[in-house]
Amino acid sequence: MAQNYRITLLPGDGIGPEIMAIAVQVLKRIGEKFDLTFDFTEALIGGSAIDATGNPFPPETLAACQNSDSILLAAIGGYKWDNLPRNQRPETGLLALRSSLNLFANLRPATILPQLVDASTLKREVVEGVDIMVVRELTGGLYFGEPRGIFTTESGEKRGVNTMTYTESEIDRIGKVAFETAMKRGKKLCSVDKSNVLEVSQLWRDKITAMAADYPEVELSHLYVDNAAMQLVRSPRQFDTIVTSNLFGDILSDAAAMLTGSIGMLPSASLSNPGQPGVYEPVHGSAPDIAGQDKANPLAQILSAAMMLRYDLNQAAAADAIEAAVVKVLDQGYRTGDIVSAGFETVGCKAMGEALLKAIG
Ligand code: NAD
Repeated sequence: MAQNYRITLLPGDGIGPEIMAIAVQVLKRIGEKFDLTFDFTEALIGGSAIDATGNPFPPETLAACQNSDSILLAAIGGYKWDNLPRNQRPETGLLALRSSLNLFANLRPATILPQLVDASTLKREVVEGVDIMVVRELTGGLYFGEPRGIFTTESGEKRGVNTMTYTESEIDRIGKVAFETAMKRGKKLCSVDKSNVLEVSQLWRDKITAMAADYPEVELSHLYVDNAAMQLVRSPRQFDTIVTSNLFGDILSDAAAMLTGSIGMLPSASLSNPGQPGVYEPVHGSAPDIAGQDKANPLAQILSAAMMLRYDLNQAAAADAIEAAVVKVLDQGYRTGDIVSAGFETVGCKAMGEALLKAIG
């Protein structure tokens, strides 16, 4: 009997609905091949949720997510909502999704496919063969620490405050995900912090160092975040798995993303504790500049669906088949505008989707 999964779809804003439509077609086709069926429930998040309900993360969306095996998200945001108060912005919906589902680990692969080496802004000899996984802590640190706010001092001056904080248990659980991820990859883990300046980073470094005893096969190193940023563009092949805090991970994973040449190619996974649904989404935003024009690259969304099959649904063979189809369409010469280079013709989002369906067979 076919294995059935409940999937909540969050298409969001901008190019979100366009790339999500392709992902659904691909999942259905993959389901036919691997005897899997999907019950898809679509829910609102971000700007589209604000327009419909006034809330970027309505309770119905949370309920749908909690009642599913996994969640596929596209992207949120757009010019239209940029001037709303902070607590009503689309991004607030994203933060609420992460914290209410306890998505504390964000996995972002940055892999250079041989077909796209020349799409990188860095030299071929620097980026060829790069295959990095950034494990970013996602529900703690500076983005969630209290106190936070803009306060008025006694002298009447305004003072902005955010707090970078990590408890031992928060570091332990992200460290565990990172060491285990490294074990499944090249068994090299680099922990990035700023322990020469920040006490919170000192605790981070001490805890991660102590955990290494449980993973004797993993070669652990530490870098300060400023050096890590430099090394990432100087000699990225030295990295296998990187683990870091929320703020540093936000910045480093975007830098790692750009090594690959296109943000339109990069998936991500946000994981909770085992058995809880994770959220799978492209690294890029809602690209309002190209929304509705059939120009979006759907491959990051498709690769996010592959990560969902691999991590939440334990369907590695189906995930492999999607990843192989992506490589195949690139080999066949299909390129959307963001990854096109000399000698290739540009195809739209829908044509890329059709090529993928054909490649899956
Ligand atoms: P963006 O990633 O949306 O776009 C940056 C550039 O990359 C744009 O030129 C865009 O056209 C291009 N691009 C992005 N994805 C693409 C794709 N799949 N195919 C082809 N080209 C693609 O980042 P931005 O412009 O800084 O932000 C736009 C909106 O997205 C903002 O409202 C921002 O808040 C939001 N955003 C959302 C998320 C998310 O949902 N996780 C992440 C980042 C930004």
